[in-house]
Amino acid sequence: MNKYAHIRLAAYHGNMQLPKLGLVIFTFGNVSAADHQLGVFAIKPSGVSYEDLTPEKMVVVDFNSKVIEGDLRPSSDTKTHGILYKHCNEMGSIVHTHSTYATAWAQALRDIPNYGTTHADHTVYDIPCAAPMDDAMIAGDYEHETGFQILNCLKEKEVSYKEIEMILVGNHAPFAWGKTVEKAVYNAAVLEELAKMAFLTEQINPGAARLKQSLIKKHYERKHGDDSYYGQ
Ligand SMILES: [Zn+2]
Repeated sequence: MNKYAHIRLAAYHGNMQLPKLGLVIFTFGNVSAADHQLGVFAIKPSGVSYEDLTPEKMVVVDFNSKVIEGDLRPSSDTKTHGILYKHCNEMGSIVHTHSTYATAWAQALRDIPNYGTTHADHTVYDIPCAAPMDDAMIAGDYEHETGFQILNCLKEKEVSYKEIEMILVGNHAPFAWGKTVEKAVYNAAVLEELAKMAFLTEQINPGAARLKQSLIKKHYERKHGDDSYYGQ
């Protein structure tokens, strides 16, 4: 068996989830799966529609985005994935979509406030929106800089990629990640749902208050703390 077969297959299954979950239309979006031991990841080829994807069509690249194996061109977002894997050695998978509600918050350049327990079950933080790129970054290596835009935002917020597994890239769209493809895809879908709920909350009550700190803590800890017991 090909030594990259496991990440090709994982990336393929992850990509196929995106249209099913309503997170992408046409060829928007991409999922990658990394093997940090081998220093490579498999990612969706550029411009290939989801119904035409196969595990064999996934492109294997190293963390500098050099193609290691595959006949097709890797997704145009490959360099962003590469930068993130290079700096985050427990990140096993990355998902990028232009899902509607999360992208709307990214375009509005707003963090998604924590308005309720659904949000608190997943993170104690507001979902950060990384500041838009300055002109020098845009004129430079754009997809490479997007990776740093994400890393810089996490650094500014003093939060690690292990504590928050989703982010909005200002003016652009969301990225989510996780240790596995399943978790990264789950996070991308949860982010879209949280974005939608927060939007509706502000529509119903523009003065809605954020969730109280005590409830944020309670909900996060019952799911993720040392004594977690939550399941539904
Ligand atoms: Zn994009």
